[in-house]
Amino acid sequence: MSTTYEVINPATETIVTTIEHYDLAATDATIAKAAKAFETWRNVTPADRGAFLRRFAAVVASHKEELAALEIANSGHTRGNALWEVDNVVNVLTYYSAAPERLFGKQIPVAGGVDITFKEPLGVVGVIVPWNFPMPIAGWGFAPALAAGNTVVLKPAEYTPLTAMKLGEYAIEAGLPEGVFNVLPGKGSIVGNRFVTHPAVRKVVFTGSTEVGKAIMAGCSEQVKRVTLELGGKSSNIIFADADIAKAAASAPGSVFDNAGQDCCARSRILVERSAFDTFMEHFEVAVKKFRVEDPTLASADMGPLISRKQFDVVQTFLDEPIAFTGSAPSGPGYWMAPTVLMPKDAQARSWREEVFGPVVSVMAFDDEAQGIAMANDSEYGLSGSIWTRDVGRALRVARGIETGNLSVNSHSSVRYSTPFGGFKQSGLGRELGPDALDSFTEVKNVFISND
Ligand code: NAD
Repeated sequence: MSTTYEVINPATETIVTTIEHYDLAATDATIAKAAKAFETWRNVTPADRGAFLRRFAAVVASHKEELAALEIANSGHTRGNALWEVDNVVNVLTYYSAAPERLFGKQIPVAGGVDITFKEPLGVVGVIVPWNFPMPIAGWGFAPALAAGNTVVLKPAEYTPLTAMKLGEYAIEAGLPEGVFNVLPGKGSIVGNRFVTHPAVRKVVFTGSTEVGKAIMAGCSEQVKRVTLELGGKSSNIIFADADIAKAAASAPGSVFDNAGQDCCARSRILVERSAFDTFMEHFEVAVKKFRVEDPTLASADMGPLISRKQFDVVQTFLDEPIAFTGSAPSGPGYWMAPTVLMPKDAQARSWREEVFGPVVSVMAFDDEAQGIAMANDSEYGLSGSIWTRDVGRALRVARGIETGNLSVNSHSSVRYSTPFGGFKQSGLGRELGPDALDSFTEVKNVFISND
């Protein structure tokens, strides 16, 4: 473990702590440990594996305040979000603690004997996590992977390793055997890339940028390694004139500026039916100006800073379209930016087409249902989205028409631990959470037993 890394508080630009990064040798040694632990973990009885996960959940829950405080300091997340994020890890662990005893196979009628299928674990699973939601995205990978009988090596993002490192300690405190769940802070190009190239890692779960995701998919093809990808997004919030416009406008800031817009599900395109456009914008301006960007330790904060100076600089490059209005943000140290509403000149604008990953939203008008759907689908991404209308038939038609993995009608929810989450098109491959995720952490084995 040769290099050190300074973890910065993005709200104050001060050093939170300095950590050691894993090098290649330490990564290989940990993968070997995880491969060894797999031999025993896979044979732990289903009930006992479930009990281990429930104990892990209980230990995480008992450290709720500590984990939330750490995430606020490391990632600049608001207190409200950080507390939700700890709960999400607890809920995901608890949900999948029921899975080991429910990993049902099939009995298939055949001639001359009995045919049964088993869902076998894969081996060591590598989980690569981005910096925007360090705790939940880690949990969506490691909880179902462990439940299905795999062992896990997990690499947090460089900027945000601290809560994942704590979760690694809590797994041991909860009694998980050594080597079953391993957290390896380090660089993507060293630790993350080793998950792709090491033959003992049988699957990679990657959440991050589409660019790196494509490279990981290409790398995994060398060993026909299983891969789940959760990548970028450019999601639409489509508001029809028959909707409750005041409610749609009041909730729109949260749907894009939550986590300072650094959310793959951010509804960073707002499409408003032309006849309701002016009314929507009036209400929306009031809501944006009320959105509180402030010290994330405060319970009242709606939004904190961006994660880094680099991210701040990238987001500024999108501000080349007409600005309709902005909210406000603190000045002084920290990577602060006011929520910003753009009205791009046309659908070729960068802010309309590319993922911004910052508190910037673009608004355009549309004329009818068909045009609204076509504008939403005019993207290489397809992760999330919202539809506002009082017409149930229209809600269903539009929901079926939009090429995206997670939609909500008259609300902005994307993620529930009990329902599947993932992207269409270049937003990803495979599904996390809910009952479907277990399939991607197991192989189906078919066994025929002769009557003879
Ligand atoms: P990123 O792709 O730069 O990094 C993500 C992770 O991959 C980090 O841990 C990084 O160290 C690692 N990595 C980088 N290069 C690697 C390599 N060559 N081999 C292996 N690992 C490597 O993304 P980011 O900037 O941390 O996160 C922001 C992006 O993540 C956004 O595009 C966002 O949309 C996306 N995201 C998607 C989802 C989703 O569920 N679809 C969720 C959160 C974030």
